[in-house]
Amino acid sequence: MKDSTKAMFRKHGWRVDRFIHNYYYFLFYYPYVKISSIIVQSLKYLSWFKPLIPIGKMAFNRYHAKVLSREDALKIFTLNEDLRIISDKNKKIIPFKYATKIIFQEPEFIVVMDCPCKKSMHAPLDDINSCIAVGRNIGSFWLEHCQKYNPRKITQSEALEIIDRFRKKDHITQAFFKVATGGSTGVICNCHPDTCVSLQATRLAGGLDKGLTMTVKSGYSVSHDSERCILCGHCEEKCLFGAVKFTDGKRKYIADICLGCGLCEEACPEKALTLYVDPDKPLPLDLEALTRIHSRI
Ligand code: SF4
Ligand code: SF4
Repeated sequence: MKDSTKAMFRKHGWRVDRFIHNYYYFLFYYPYVKISSIIVQSLKYLSWFKPLIPIGKMAFNRYHAKVLSREDALKIFTLNEDLRIISDKNKKIIPFKYATKIIFQEPEFIVVMDCPCKKSMHAPLDDINSCIAVGRNIGSFWLEHCQKYNPRKITQSEALEIIDRFRKKDHITQAFFKVATGGSTGVICNCHPDTCVSLQATRLAGGLDKGLTMTVKSGYSVSHDSERCILCGHCEEKCLFGAVKFTDGKRKYIADICLGCGLCEEACPEKALTLYVDPDKPLPLDLEALTRIHSRI
């Protein structure tokens, strides 16, 4: 048995079923996600079929992603010590029943691999190598078992360059939490609603406001400085979720549907937008604040 297989086995403890799920999930990453994407697309036509609702809820409870601001991603890609926070308090950040552990083991060990969502949804070839594993556990498994998905070891600064390249192309940054990977963090991806199964599943389930979501807001809302704003409209163009709208020359911002991704802040030529921690949203996955959060919650 390869070292990374043994490590995965140890990670799941007595839950052999989860080890098997995790093992085959990565081994057959692309077909697994391709089938999931077909199921997600079929929801459009089968939403009337009531027995599917509990199955949908079960999946949504076990597979979800936390939106990261660029600053929060930067803190992950400059982390140089192990972080292991297994606590119910994490539900303030990731409000789900399962898959809430925040674990980064050897966080400088980073691997990038093909994204099965982008492959399934025919994203441009240049965009496909974009799923990032942070930590030796998942990273070494990808290198040892998943050669067909083109894994390669990269540095922390290369990972950040990938994040920035995709953010410039209107992709948000998401940290995935999945039961299939040990109920914890570990995979960070660059996602666009046109080529991300989890964002599409959330959209088809009725969106963020209906509570059935795979995407957890970053925890930030956006403040607007009207003195600086020149009403150029870039923030409306950048927002993938319709949280900014211009009507009769006036800018309207809807905090409830804002994911706090930060793309508008980065695109504003006048620096008129600033992310702030919104007390009405889940807490950010801000590694620096995490220790304080845990003593305070
Ligand atoms: S991008 Fe900035 S300057 Fe342009 S409309 Fe939005 S807030 Fe105003
Ligand atoms: S308003 Fe800005 S921060 Fe909020 S979802 Fe849209 S682009 Fe992201």
